[in-house]
Amino acid sequence: QNDLLSATGTTIFTVMSALAVEHGAINLGQGFPDYDGPSDVIHSAAAALLDGRNQYPPMTGLPELRAAVAHANKRFYGLEVDPAREVVVTSGATEAITACLMAVLNPGDECVLIEPLYDTYLPVVKLLGAVPKLVRLSPPKWELPRAELAAAFGPKTKAILLNTPMNPASKVFTAAELAFIAELVTRHDCYAVCDEVYEHLTFDGWQHIPLMTLPGMRERCMRIGSAGKTFSLTGWKVGYVTCDASLAPNVAKAHQNLTFTTPPNLQRGVAVGLMKDDAYFAGLSAHLQAKRDRLAAGLARLGFGVLQTQGSYFITTDVRPLGWTGDDVSFCRALTVEAKVTAIPVTAFYAGPDAPNHYVRFAFCKGEAVLDAALERMERWL
Ligand code: PMP
Ligand code: GLN
Repeated sequence: QNDLLSATGTTIFTVMSALAVEHGAINLGQGFPDYDGPSDVIHSAAAALLDGRNQYPPMTGLPELRAAVAHANKRFYGLEVDPAREVVVTSGATEAITACLMAVLNPGDECVLIEPLYDTYLPVVKLLGAVPKLVRLSPPKWELPRAELAAAFGPKTKAILLNTPMNPASKVFTAAELAFIAELVTRHDCYAVCDEVYEHLTFDGWQHIPLMTLPGMRERCMRIGSAGKTFSLTGWKVGYVTCDASLAPNVAKAHQNLTFTTPPNLQRGVAVGLMKDDAYFAGLSAHLQAKRDRLAAGLARLGFGVLQTQGSYFITTDVRPLGWTGDDVSFCRALTVEAKVTAIPVTAFYAGPDAPNHYVRFAFCKGEAVLDAALERMERWL
């Protein structure tokens, strides 16, 4: 058996969702909406399914979806993208992350990762035989430690993996922070894998800026989007990579060896989705912001220390103000078993030692009645 995989635990999202089912808990852990995505997107996929679009599509994606991805890059960020040569459709952002890392990393290369990190990053970097260099952001402010980031880059650096808007920190990187990262990427002549799955989920006027739009970054960035997040259809697992024509063939070869293609009917739906009008995208973030505000206000009322959420599906809270003296894992377990509400311990997103261990993540991509019911259960328990 592969030693690295044997040493990898079951993902926290599966563990906590199973515990939620076992105890009949309201699941504010794993980040998935409890409502469906836009009906025109779903109907387009259903029509394609019934219309014989059921065999292998082109390896890099349906032409209409690649065109829609290129169009979205231009519409939202002013990026000129060649749909035939600079877009690769993948089976979710999860595959895209792996494919992009595979495209550039050789064994022994170093890859800079920023904690807290999404749980697939570290195992994949290690499976490729590359060496992770971890840089830590700490709650409650999640400030970028610039000197430490600069020190993590060196002659062996081949890539940085950047997630903005960030899960679970819910931080949107600023133009100044991105410029600092861009300078390091240029100076060390390396690549950036940009996990931007929450690109359209930003709040309070925070604007997502792709690193790819900064000077010198067009040829060095692989920018990843996800239909799961952009259309509230997390089970669909349709992702898309935008990158320079010099990189795309390698990303495509990785994809060829991972899944080869992605269901054509779902791709058809996503192509329709990416062409939706601006009101859809504005409405997506506005609806989520209202949910964020509802849950954040409720958690603050209950005594949680509520951290700022600039983007994503998640609110991170400090449980110490509640008088909790145990760690985040014991809190989440007790919350699920006793209060019947499930959340995710933030230590799950740290790999290094001495992680901050009294922060807990709640997903707010749920109906108002569900958020209110979860708050009521917690109020009775606390
Ligand atoms: N990156 C981040 C930061 C995520 O939170 C997630 C979870 N949805 C993914 C990637 C995976 O996206 P997908 O479901 O499209 O594979
Ligand atoms: N991205 C989701 C989260 O952070 C979960 C995805 C998964 O279950 N792997 O909650």
